Amino acid sequence: MSTAIVVGGGPNGLAAAARLARAGCNVTVLEASDTIGGGARSSEYLAPGLLHDHCSAVHPMALASPFFQEVNLPGLEWCAPEIDCAHPLDDGSAGAFAKSFDVTDELLGADARRWRQMFAPVARKFDTLFADISQPVLRVPRHPLTLTNFGIRVVPSATLLARTWKTEQARALWGGVAAHAFWRLDRPLTSAVGVTLTAAAHAHGWVVAKGGTQRIVDALVADIVAHQGKIETSSRVSSVDDLPPHDVLMLDVVPSIALEILGDRLPSRIARAYRSFSHGPGAFKVDFAVEGGIPWTAQEARRAGTVHVGGSFDEIAANERAVVDGKMPTAPFVLVGQQYLADPSRSAGNVHPIWAYAHVPHGYTGDATEAIVEQIERFAPGFRERVVGMAVRSTTEMSKYNENYVGGDIIGGAGSPLQTVFRPRVSSNPYATGIPGVYLCSSSTPPGAGAHGMCGANAADRALTRCISR
Ligand SMILES: Cc1cc2nc3c(=O)[nH]c(=O)nc-3n(C[C@H](O)[C@H](O)[C@H](O)COP(=O)(O)OP(=O)(O)OC[C@H]3O[C@@H](n4cnc5c(N)ncnc54)[C@H](O)[C@@H]3O)c2cc1C
Repeated sequence: MSTAIVVGGGPNGLAAAARLARAGCNVTVLEASDTIGGGARSSEYLAPGLLHDHCSAVHPMALASPFFQEVNLPGLEWCAPEIDCAHPLDDGSAGAFAKSFDVTDELLGADARRWRQMFAPVARKFDTLFADISQPVLRVPRHPLTLTNFGIRVVPSATLLARTWKTEQARALWGGVAAHAFWRLDRPLTSAVGVTLTAAAHAHGWVVAKGGTQRIVDALVADIVAHQGKIETSSRVSSVDDLPPHDVLMLDVVPSIALEILGDRLPSRIARAYRSFSHGPGAFKVDFAVEGGIPWTAQEARRAGTVHVGGSFDEIAANERAVVDGKMPTAPFVLVGQQYLADPSRSAGNVHPIWAYAHVPHGYTGDATEAIVEQIERFAPGFRERVVGMAVRSTTEMSKYNENYVGGDIIGGAGSPLQTVFRPRVSSNPYATGIPGVYLCSSSTPPGAGAHGMCGANAADRALTRCISR
């Protein structure tokens, strides 16, 4: 039996471990933190009975993930909000979409037809598409027509695509989703993340895991253990030399940590590529306990699982550009999660858990708490008075909580056009480290950020060809 060690127990490390354990490998996961799950943990850490997702919260891609579909994670249930995403504006109106195009038509009015034309063809074949785009780019696609349909929509910048819509509500709504790219919106390919997330919303909804994101982790751990895998927490790995003998080593870490672990064993061309891999802007997170929920002026926002807070498209584009350039905007782009609307079990009576984070410059050392509160207050006067508890995780604390979040970068590497397509380097096998049997499997590899497990599953597939040939 082949022996595999997985360093890092985020969703990708756990997916790699599950894939290898299911194939009969003897798997051990070594996780630095004292809790398993990386960016997919949840707990009642702010107040008893109030369940907060520490990091990832909304999971449209998990439903499309070929790996999650195959494993059929035990005990996992998904909950959908009535409206998936709302984007309030200063005049009290909002852009918003729901999974159903018919409901979205009512929400978007004048831009409904153009919204449908842009996203329906992609949403209709979303799982087929995701099977292709969740793999490295340098390969023969299995569904070239579906991929072409997607490609023509995502090559233009998000700024160019914004011209599709006539109303400020739809333009802003698009801007908020596109800003998940965590990059300047006027750069080519910055539409890729926005088109993918919006089409995923219309295919599956922006769902949350019942009982918190941690349930995705719990289900993966249960699958690993059911296949005789082992999990060890509080086990930071700093060098490959400290590890017991193994046939396969999977690294659920960013390239800089892989450099530390593998040292001189890395071929120099790979070490060079890892050294030049860049990280993007940071996330500044604030969790709130809010009595009665957020009093949004726009009614749509009161019913939405996710609310994007950043004003008009132009304002978001300018502020995203600023954070990429290392400047902290006065009114940063803020993402607000109201998961309790889909999963009421997360609230304690009339006190609700609110999840929020702002896009800030890489390594930002200031305090963005007040800027986040101000942004929410701008579209929900009276919010401040309803806050009965708050917990802050700055970019510095973010990178202590999880070493993969270098400088607060929560997407495993800058979302620049080059690194969106090729990460961590240009190769048809970007998981390979150049050392036989050693693979990178974190979100710094294709298809990138998200709790979908596909980076881990893809890397494990490459590793399995080695296990089988032994
Ligand atoms: C605030 C926030 C909001 C987010 N929102 C969403 C969302 O709504 N939806 C979504 O899909 N995604 C979201 N994400 C992103 C998502 O969490 C990540 O893309 C995902 O967790 C990446 O998984 P991973 O397994 O590659 O790495 P990680 O989750 O980062 O896990 C890596 C693990 O490796 C461990 N590790 C690192 N170095 C070592 C070492 N040397 N030895 C041992 N262990 C080590 C770390 O402790 C960590 O547990 C969000 C992230 C954050 C922070």
